[in-house]
Amino acid sequence: MRVLLLGGTTEASALAKTLKIAEIETVFSYAGRTKVPVAQPVPTRVGGFGGLAGLQDYLRAEKITHVVDATHPFAAQMSLNAHNACHSLAVPLLRLERPAWTPQSGDDWVTASDIEAACDALPVEPACVFLAIGRMHVDLFARKPQHHYLLRLVDAPAQPIALAHHTAVIARGPFNVFEDTQLLRDHNITHVVAKNAGGIGAVAKVEAARNLGLRMIMIARPELPDGLVAPDSATVMRWLAHSAERGV
Ligand code: NAP
Repeated sequence: MRVLLLGGTTEASALAKTLKIAEIETVFSYAGRTKVPVAQPVPTRVGGFGGLAGLQDYLRAEKITHVVDATHPFAAQMSLNAHNACHSLAVPLLRLERPAWTPQSGDDWVTASDIEAACDALPVEPACVFLAIGRMHVDLFARKPQHHYLLRLVDAPAQPIALAHHTAVIARGPFNVFEDTQLLRDHNITHVVAKNAGGIGAVAKVEAARNLGLRMIMIARPELPDGLVAPDSATVMRWLAHSAERGV
């Protein structure tokens, strides 16, 4: 058995530890979105495979027997490529998918279908917005220049940010509710924009916004291809054990 673990989430890193303890040969794969990714206890590769064909070549060359897709729920292209490559080569694939966050009674929560819709959902009058969506798409908010944006990024931005008024905080999760509540208070935040990543690594901002009664604009997850889904790493380990027993 030789597992390719597609990572980039807190849950993927936890699973890597479990696979190491279980002595299951594993290669961990990062997209390379951060300068210094979290070190893993298993051999690690960084960077794209080169689309579907590149991933197919990689799976063959590395003799990968199982793929676990534990990427971020918004990394839809990677999940689609994994689905298509595994299907074409008959390599078993399991997606580790953490449950989405859901609003609770009393939350001031608006769901946006995508990032553009989240920008539309911001008010006309100036607001202080915690834009908790990573670096890749923040420039889309330049069309609402009346707001002050608080960004939280893993690395200092390599290119200038196209937002007229912004503050960038450099920090790496997981975060806790106490710190995030303080952050939102310190910056007089009125609105929080987030991707519905689910899981524990980034939930603190959702709870902090709830505690402070702030408007939460939550971007819904993109559609992912149908396939086997595990809610937690224990289910992934059972799936691998079952595969090993059956010799597939
Ligand atoms: P994506 O759009 O699904 O992937 C784009 C390309 O990046 C893939 O086609 C693949 O390149 C490469 N890639 C992605 N994940 C990879 C992995 N684990 N190992 C190797 N290559 C990988 O995903 P994205 O561009 O990374 O991000 C899309 C959204 O997810 C963004 O909104 C981002 O904020 C969010 N997100 C991603 C991560 C992450 O670790 N990737 C973490 C947090 C949030 P090839 O086609 O060349 O193979």
